[in-house]
Amino acid sequence: MEDSYNIAVLPGDGIGPEVMAEGLKVLDKIKVAFNVSCTIKEADFGGIAIDNHGEALPKSTLDICKSSDAVLLGSIGGPKWESLPPSKQPERAGLLPIRKELGLFANLRPAIIFPQLTAASPLKEEILKDGMDILVVRELTGGIYFGSPKVREGDKALDTLVYTRPEIERIAHVAFKAAEQRGGKVTSIDKANVLTSMVLWREVVTEVGKEYPNVKLNHLYVDNGAMQLVKNPNQFDVMLCGNMFGDILSDEASMITGSLGMLPSASLGQGSFGLYEPSGGSAPDIAGQGIANPIAQILSLGMLFKYSFNRKEIYDSIFNAINNVLEAGYRTKDIYTSGNKEVSTSEIGTLIADSL
Ligand code: NAD
Repeated sequence: MEDSYNIAVLPGDGIGPEVMAEGLKVLDKIKVAFNVSCTIKEADFGGIAIDNHGEALPKSTLDICKSSDAVLLGSIGGPKWESLPPSKQPERAGLLPIRKELGLFANLRPAIIFPQLTAASPLKEEILKDGMDILVVRELTGGIYFGSPKVREGDKALDTLVYTRPEIERIAHVAFKAAEQRGGKVTSIDKANVLTSMVLWREVVTEVGKEYPNVKLNHLYVDNGAMQLVKNPNQFDVMLCGNMFGDILSDEASMITGSLGMLPSASLGQGSFGLYEPSGGSAPDIAGQGIANPIAQILSLGMLFKYSFNRKEIYDSIFNAINNVLEAGYRTKDIYTSGNKEVSTSEIGTLIADSL
């Protein structure tokens, strides 16, 4: 009997619809190759939803997401909506509420360097000679971005960094479980030398780690972690971070890989439900030119099968198809280096789909 999945598809703005079209091209091939049936429900989200429904996250879109097994998102936002009041703009009124409504507390961002692309990285090739395959696990709904009080009184302003034991425990379990499936190592990032909340963070992570005897745990202060990431990225397997440190370090890790257009991400809650999207934004500077890199979107689809549907073999097959196309020398503009063949968004999508 074939497996059947419901997927909500939110293409969004800018390059979102362009790269999503390539993701769906690959999905069509997966359906046949792996005998899976997928019901796709597409909905407006972000700037396009403001234009069509007057708000970034309409109830109809949220309902579709809630009744699905997983959500595949492109990206949202752009200059057209930047003059709106901040609370109405796509990111503030779209991304934060959708994460909250769907209970997504864990953000997983793999930063993988394909061996064919080391020349596109800002790091020296010798640093990357042993490769890099890091998973940043970032806590998404707590910490200093959401802590209360948040107050501005004239020339004095205050944010609050608060974490509770259950919040730390649940994100730590996500990191240790991921490490069990990967390289068996968690590096927990904190600032326990100066922040009380981070003393608790280190304590709880250490306790949770005892439940995973096959996973090696070490702790790094965030400043050292940032330095080690560019000095020797290959030492990391899973990096476990609170909200703000994860925000910063995941961008640093992604830059090492050469292009934002290569990096997928997953946001997970309790259970198997998740939202999957490229790590980059809507790239208005290149939208509509057919030059956006759809690999992040296609890998996000792969992560969807791996984490929400427990189909790692489908992720592996997508990963290998991308690897084959890169090995054959095909590149979008952002990862092009001389001697390779430059192709468009839709050409590389077709090549990847055909290579499955
Ligand atoms: P961005 O990630 O859109 O672009 C940064 C740079 O990376 C640009 O030069 C862009 O061309 C390039 N880039 C990004 N994705 C690419 C791809 N697939 N292929 C090739 N090049 C790619 O970040 P930004 O310019 O800071 O933001 C643009 C808009 O996106 C803003 O409105 C921002 O609010 C929004 N944004 C949305 C999300 C999201 O939807 N999750 C995330 C970040 C930013």
